[in-house]
Amino acid sequence: MCGIFGYIGKEKASEITALGLFILQHRGQESCGIAVSDGEKLTLIKEMGYVKEVLYQERIEKLDGFAAIGHVRYPTRGTPNLANSQPHLIETLNGPAYAFASNGDIVNYKTLRKEYEKKQIFFHSDNDGELIGKMLVYKLEREGKKIIDAVKEIMEEVKGAYSALFLTKNRIYAFRDPWGFRPMIFGRTEGGFAIGSESVAMDIIRAKEWREVEPAELLIISQEGAESVKYDEEVLRKGRKTPAHCSFEIIYFARPDSYQYRQFVHEKRMQLGEKLAEKDNIKADAVVPVPDSSNFMALGYSKKTGIPLCFGLIRSHYIGRTFIKPSQSIRDESVRQKFNPLYRFFHGKKIILVDDSIVRGTTIRKIVRMIKGAGAKEVHVRIASPPVKFPCYYGIDTPTYEELIANKMNIEEIRKFIEADSLMYLTVEELQEVLDSPENFCYACFNGDYPVLEGKK
Ligand code: SF4
Repeated sequence: MCGIFGYIGKEKASEITALGLFILQHRGQESCGIAVSDGEKLTLIKEMGYVKEVLYQERIEKLDGFAAIGHVRYPTRGTPNLANSQPHLIETLNGPAYAFASNGDIVNYKTLRKEYEKKQIFFHSDNDGELIGKMLVYKLEREGKKIIDAVKEIMEEVKGAYSALFLTKNRIYAFRDPWGFRPMIFGRTEGGFAIGSESVAMDIIRAKEWREVEPAELLIISQEGAESVKYDEEVLRKGRKTPAHCSFEIIYFARPDSYQYRQFVHEKRMQLGEKLAEKDNIKADAVVPVPDSSNFMALGYSKKTGIPLCFGLIRSHYIGRTFIKPSQSIRDESVRQKFNPLYRFFHGKKIILVDDSIVRGTTIRKIVRMIKGAGAKEVHVRIASPPVKFPCYYGIDTPTYEELIANKMNIEEIRKFIEADSLMYLTVEELQEVLDSPENFCYACFNGDYPVLEGKK
């Protein structure tokens, strides 16, 4: 998962884009970057680190230009280093002329890369964004194709998830894969147009109106206006009738104040909590969320059961999300530094601990231990999603079967491993009952039903 943001218009593009990226920081914290066009040349800044450290005011205000695209990275393909960070600047004979950034991950990377290497295209990274960007430039520059045809061919050839931004000297081209895996929002501001991963970024830049970019849609955006080209998504999906939006975005990744896949994320999270409560009969003293992504789920659970909600775990906001730290040692460190229990609160109590998901099981085990260490009598863990049993190949870092606890253990074994007094999940069917238009979603990490049949990297 990553975040993208772009702006073209009358305001200073670098500042609006940096602000958009700052708001999308939860989608990736390893590196960030921005490419800006002033109509003559493209300038790129990218570094490892947080938006506020890399794209700070004094630096950004020196970047003149009316169009910019940017990226926050969370590594799925390729190691976390500068070469793999985005945007990618794509040089041509006349100097750098294009920049490309995308959110997602593709399943036929190796095949396509070999194919384009044979065409004498050289790569500086092993990142799929560079591959798609260079494929596009190849089609435009070497094959002389029009952008509309080149993007259509990209959609025919590239399998998997990509919400993409392509910057030229005077335009931004924004397109989304035919499955619509990752979100993408298009907004109109007072003086221009913006495109970003989540609607919350549109709220913060005060967009006057916004909408979701459709699967298999291309937007051609200049200072003067925006034009939409809609390809036949069903044909591009090889007959699959429905999109495959990532259900995990609703459960965990998106900010709760975003509107995504035509639903309000916080409402869906509350309903997931209510769904858990409907099938539960445990008596307890308090419902405690694992903050922040489970807050609304715990609220839903509490509302439904009448068991009081308490924020018994205090989260430090100055540390990244544990799940998206790239190595286990950093993840372990993060859990200890991230949560602290309210000691006097837990003493002698029977607790319902609500979390959004269990991936590896190590984080929740530490939290259960922490709460018991604070004196809780019992800890009953309730997970507002189905067991994660299968890896994701579309942009989420669950790379191997071995790392997924639900792939190795049944629910009782997981309960024992995490040292909880009881454990309950939602089923895939229950998750589907909560989502609007559930047929439009991907559930592959829960049920192994991969929407893109190649299915493996
Ligand atoms: S496999 Fe899971 S995480 Fe990946 S796109 Fe599908 S629902 Fe999302």
